[in-house]
Amino acid sequence: MAKVFSGIRSSGRLHLGNYLGAIKNWVTLQDKADQCIFAVVDLHGVTTPYDPKAYPQQVMDTALDFLAAGVDPTKALLIRQSWVPQHAELMWLLSTITPVGWLERLPNWREKVDQVQAMGERGASYRNNLSLLAYPVLMAADILLYKSDLVPVGEDQLAHLDLANEVGAKFNHLFGKVFPVIKRHVTQGARIMSLTDPMKKMSKTGDEGIALSDSPDQIRMKIKRAATDSGREVKFDVVGKPGISNLMTIYATLANVSIGKLEERYVGKSYAEFKADLAEVVVGFLQPLQERRAAFAKDVDRVEAILTESEKRARIIADKTLADVHKHMGLR
Ligand code: ATP
Ligand code: MG
Repeated sequence: MAKVFSGIRSSGRLHLGNYLGAIKNWVTLQDKADQCIFAVVDLHGVTTPYDPKAYPQQVMDTALDFLAAGVDPTKALLIRQSWVPQHAELMWLLSTITPVGWLERLPNWREKVDQVQAMGERGASYRNNLSLLAYPVLMAADILLYKSDLVPVGEDQLAHLDLANEVGAKFNHLFGKVFPVIKRHVTQGARIMSLTDPMKKMSKTGDEGIALSDSPDQIRMKIKRAATDSGREVKFDVVGKPGISNLMTIYATLANVSIGKLEERYVGKSYAEFKADLAEVVVGFLQPLQERRAAFAKDVDRVEAILTESEKRARIIADKTLADVHKHMGLR
C-alpha cells in the first residue's frame, strides 16, 4: 500500500491539534501500510530554545504520548530521530542541492522566527540560526531516508512536503531515480486553532492548547475561557465565527459527528451550553489515552526497549537508502 513516515518535535506536551492533525491518522494508517515509521524528531526540537537537562524526559514524554494515543509498536516503528544518525547525513547531502530561496519563501520559517523573537532573551541566540531556515531540508531527509511516500501531517506542514518533493525530484533528475513521490494525508482537524486566539494555530511552543495530558478540570477551565465570537448562534463559519467554528471542529472530530448535525443539535442553545458539552466530550475522549499513558509511564524500561528495537530496524532501512544515495552521488 504505502510507506508512511511522520514526526513530531519533542518541544512540549502534545495537544489536540497534534492528535487530530497527525496522530489520529497514524493510528488508522498503521493497520494498512507496508511500512510505518513514527519519530520523536528530537533534532528538530533543538532548533528552538530548550533546556538540555530536561530534554531527555521531554523526548520520553513525547514517546509516551505517541503510545498513549494508540501507536502500536507491533505495527509501526517508534524512533527517536537522533538515534538514527543517517537523518542528519542525508540532510547534509540534500542541502547540497537545495537553493536557499526555496527555504526563504516558506511561511513557517518567518512564523518560527517571530515565535522565537517573542521569547525575549531566551530566543535571542536562536532567531538567526541556520537550523531554523534549514529545518525543512531535515524534514525532507526524515521522509526520504525511508523512501516513504505517504505522510500524515497537519496543514501547516504541507508547504514542507512540497519542498521535500521538489528536493527529491531534483535529486532524481541530477543523479538518477532514488526517491519516490510523497503524497500528503490530510483530514478534517488538520488545522486546529488556539483557544485564546483563533487566528493562530494551536502549537506546543506558541499559543497554548489543550494538552493530551491535561486534567479534567484544566480542560473544563480552558474550554470555558476559550475565545468565542460576537453573536450567539452555534454555527460553523470559519471567516465570521472562527472561535466557535474551531470548537465545533474539535467536537465533531472527537465525537465523530458531522458539523451539520452539531449545528442542528445546538439550534437555540447558548455558547455556554455548547462549551460545557464539548468539555465533557474532550474529557471523555482523553480518559482512555491518559490511562494508557500512565500504564506505559510505569514501565519505562519497556518503552526504552520499544524505541531501541525500532531504531535498530530503522537504521537498517536507512543504511540501504544512504548506500543508494552515496552510489548515485559518486561518493562510493
Ligand atoms: P511547535 O510549536 O514545537 O512547532 P507544533 O504543535 O507545531 O509544535 P510540530 O511538532 O511542529 O507541533 O508538528 C507535529 C504534527 O502536528 C505535524 O504533523 C503538524 O502538522 C501537526 N500539527 C501541529 N499543530 C497543529 C494544529 N494546530 N492542528 C492540526 N495539526 C497540527
Ligand atoms: Mg510546529
